[in-house]
This record gives sequence, C-alpha cells and structure tokens, in this order.
Amino acid sequence: MPFDRIHECGCGVGRIGPGPIGMFVERWLARLPLPFGDADRDAGYWWRPPYAWIRRNDTKPDHASGAPPTPRPGQVNQGDRIVEPHRRAHRSVLLLDAEEGRNAPAESVHNFLTRDGTPPAQLRKLGREELAAYPAVRIRPSTCVAAYVLDDGGFRLDLSDGGTAEARRLLLATGLADELPGPRGIEALWGRSAFHCPYCHGYECTGKPVAVIGAEPARVRLALQLSRFAADVVLCTDGEPLDPASRLKLESNGVAVRCEAIARLEATGDQLEQIVFESGPPLARDAVFVVNVPRQRSDLAARLGCASFADGSVEVNEFGRTSVPGVYAAGDMARRATVPMPLAAVITAAASGTVAGAVIDQDLLYVDFDLPNPFAQAKG
Ligand SMILES: Cc1cc2nc3c(=O)[nH]c(=O)nc-3n(C[C@H](O)[C@H](O)[C@H](O)COP(=O)(O)OP(=O)(O)OC[C@H]3O[C@@H](n4cnc5c(N)ncnc54)[C@H](O)[C@@H]3O)c2cc1C
Repeated sequence: MPFDRIHECGCGVGRIGPGPIGMFVERWLARLPLPFGDADRDAGYWWRPPYAWIRRNDTKPDHASGAPPTPRPGQVNQGDRIVEPHRRAHRSVLLLDAEEGRNAPAESVHNFLTRDGTPPAQLRKLGREELAAYPAVRIRPSTCVAAYVLDDGGFRLDLSDGGTAEARRLLLATGLADELPGPRGIEALWGRSAFHCPYCHGYECTGKPVAVIGAEPARVRLALQLSRFAADVVLCTDGEPLDPASRLKLESNGVAVRCEAIARLEATGDQLEQIVFESGPPLARDAVFVVNVPRQRSDLAARLGCASFADGSVEVNEFGRTSVPGVYAAGDMARRATVPMPLAAVITAAASGTVAGAVIDQDLLYVDFDLPNPFAQAKG
C-alpha cells in the first residue's frame, strides 16, 4: 500500500513516535475482537463502523455478493480486509516514527523482564517484526511536523516527507530528548559509561569505581544509593559548594568528596578512564552519573494545546487522555498530576501505551455504536 495515500482512507488511529515498546499498543489495537457475532456479520454489519474510512470514502461492499468495496480511482483498497471473516476489529493504525529513541545510545535495555540485556535497536526490530503480522498497522518512518484538529474532531497530520495523514484519534508517544550539560567529553560516553539512572545502569556498576557529578541534594542521594553496590563512590561537586551536613553524611557512609572544577572526561572509545580536574590529581573511574535535562522531543503536544506541567511533561489522566479531546499521550513525555516526575522506563512506557490504546478503542466504540463508555467519567 502506498503510504502517501493513507490520508485518503481517513481511518483509524494515528500513533506518533512510539519507541520500541510503545509499539505493543499497535499490536494490541489490531487484535481486538469484533464486537458482534456471526449473525451480525451475515446481516452485513461487517462494513459498519468502526471502519470509519468507509463513510469518508463513501464506498461500501456489495451485500448480496459479499464482494469487497470497489475503490474509487486513486483510493486505497482495504475492502478485502473488511469482508475477510476475521473475528478481529482491525483498527487501522498508522505508526509514524522518526526513529530517535531515547535510549538508543545505550548498549542494552534493562528492567524489562524477558528482554534484559537486549540492545535497544534489537528490541525495536523485534517489535517491528511482530507488527508486520498485523496488516491493519502501517509503519511510516517519517516525522510528524504539524497536527491540526479537523471540524469533525479528527486530525490531519503534516509529515516531514511531504505527505499528509488523517486519523480519528491521536496517541502521542514522542518521548524525551536529553540535554547533557555535563563536563566536556560526555556526549561520546552517554549510555555507555556516563549515565543518569541508577535503575537502568547501577547494577552494571557493581564492584566498580564510579563518580556522581553535582552538589544538589538529589546528587547526594544518588551517591549514597550507588554506594550500596559500587566498589567506591566519589561525589564530584564540579566547583560547587557542598553543605557540611551532606558532606558528613557522605563521608560517614564511605563516599569521598572532590570539590574541584572538572576540566574534562577522558576515555578510550566510549569507556570512561578518568575525570580530569582544573587542579589536583585525576580520578580514575569506570562510570560517571550526571545530571541530564530531559526535554520534550517534539512540540506537537504544545502546538495542539495540550496542558502540561512546569517540568514540560504533558498532563494526562489515568487513561492517557490529554486536555485536548481525541489526543492521548503515553510514555516518557506524559504523566499524571499525582506522579512527581515521569516514570521513565521502557516497561512503563509500554504499559501506559497499552492503557491508552484500550481507552482509544472504547472511545471509538462509544462514538460509533453509542455504547456506554466505562472510561467516560474518569477524572482529569
Ligand atoms: C541512556 C539511557 C538509557 C536508558 N536505559 C534504560 C533501560 O535500561 N531500561 C529502561 O527501562 N529504560 C531505560 N531508559 C529510559 C527509556 O529510554 C525510556 O523510558 C523509553 O525509551 C521511553 O519510551 P517512549 O516510547 O516514551 O519514548 P522513546 O523511546 O524516546 O521514543 C519516542 C519516539 O518518538 C519519535 N518521535 C518524536 N517526535 C516525533 C514526531 N514528531 N514524529 C514522529 N516520530 C517522533 C522518536 O524519534 C522516537 O523514536 C534509558 C534512557 C536513557 C537516556
């Protein structure tokens, strides 16, 4: 199917920017059982909503013969899929992905049971292979550069490849990008021997010498946390003063402190060798933990008018709904008001995408069949 014609079928759900795990939601949406039985199908209900594209395309299958709808010239024919006697609700999903996953620099993914140690690119590849079995999902390696709300409540998307797409619902999973204000030389080490998250990479530092850079309370806390498994931990304040109470707590728990300004990180390839200070001897380390500044990778949510928090996270309710009707958000980019910071992990991104996917389907059932919506009364 030529992707540049997807907009002509105007159907289904658009999902922008899912990382490797967020793709579960597409798979899930494509597997949903049809809400009616054989008798309904025989009565000709196969072609009724949720296949909203039929209404937009104004084409219908031949009831008497059961033949698929005839596409108008220039249109995409999905009719064979619709009359095919599958007991599934093939919601059409268009997956747009610029393919810049947040953990791409990392060697492997941790904290995902059954996939521990899998390289991020491999995880993405596995996801794509699974999605290939679901013809209702189309993947387009393109960036969505703009999204507009249409009069009928749907969305039109402008893509970086010059194409457009339409969707009834929009699930944003555009993730975060990390700014690295840390010392010179850090970019080459990011995700390999320079880290931000003790849950993602702390275990791999077991028995090794590590450093934490910064003097804020969160850095002191991280240094103490890492002292549970690293061979030795040094807090490097990079020229910032450290309050006496923190210093006492660190040193009484075996964490040394270096207060000199840092000149650079020296490495062999992506492996940190030592921290070089403006004065004083260098410090040999296997890994360093730095303060990253996560930012929204895409401004789509802001441009659509989605409410957000001071830290930039898009506000969602329990079900992934944003403040803009029809726009949902999942993964690192979004959080609920009760959660103090994004729970940034691959498995939580997958979980939030799964929830949002189910709610999108329920919302469409509500619209198309006037069914009660169990999620309609949700707060937020
Ligand atoms: C160095 C590092 C290592 C990490 N290691 C781990 C780990 O071991 N275990 C773990 O659980 N978590 C880890 N994390 C966190 C993990 O990467 C994130 O929690 C996870 O990737 C979030 O998934 P996501 O789908 O929300 O976003 P992402 O994985 O960032 O995916 C977002 C996708 O959206 C695309 N996109 C953005 N804007 C657009 C647009 N406008 N149009 C189209 N596509 C767009 C991007 O190109 C990208 O492919 C790590 C993070 C970092 C920085």
